Amino acid sequence: MRLFVALAVPEAVAGQIVALQEMLGTGRLVPEENLHLTLAFLGDVAGADLADLDLALADLRSPAPMVELAGIDLWDEALVIGVRANPVLEALARKVAVAVRGVVEMPRRRFRPHVTLARVRPGDAVRVGRFLSARADAVLTPFAAEGFTLYRSHLRAEGPLYEPLAEYPLG
Ligand code: ATP
Ligand code: MG
Repeated sequence: MRLFVALAVPEAVAGQIVALQEMLGTGRLVPEENLHLTLAFLGDVAGADLADLDLALADLRSPAPMVELAGIDLWDEALVIGVRANPVLEALARKVAVAVRGVVEMPRRRFRPHVTLARVRPGDAVRVGRFLSARADAVLTPFAAEGFTLYRSHLRAEGPLYEPLAEYPLG
């Protein structure tokens, strides 16, 4: 099963992102209920490893990071909003990676925290350019991440379905 660990975006902040998406007016928008900040992407994990993964994640201790989403950027075809420098969040991502690697292999890659707003195509360039000129410096309301979630991703033609498997408290 395809797994990842992420912070859910609270409703109030998700509402601000939806307003930005409406302003964008093009691309494949990430549905409000799918908005998330990935801490670790595990890829395909055997069902037999799930119980150990759950134990490892449940053992993890971290303060609740205050997350401030700010600054919109285009990464290839993903329009993303970044995160203000955040040592607590970075430490949390490292702890998640260590916990995961105690159970399954996961490639090492730099943590670039972000929330994807939309996937866009070259044909969307004019609207994307206009949107970035107006809103690239957007700053959203900071939120305390009071937990993180282990998700299973079901890839579907109409877009992924993220199934929360377990939630773990922070703080
Ligand atoms: P789709 O692939 O259909 O556009 P998605 O990317 O939202 O949907 P997944 O591919 O299952 O769904 O990814 C789940 C989360 O993990 C997303 O935040 C995605 O950016 C991240 N992710 C996926 N693949 C990788 C990867 N190879 N490295 C790092 N993060 C990844
Ligand atoms: Mg993907």
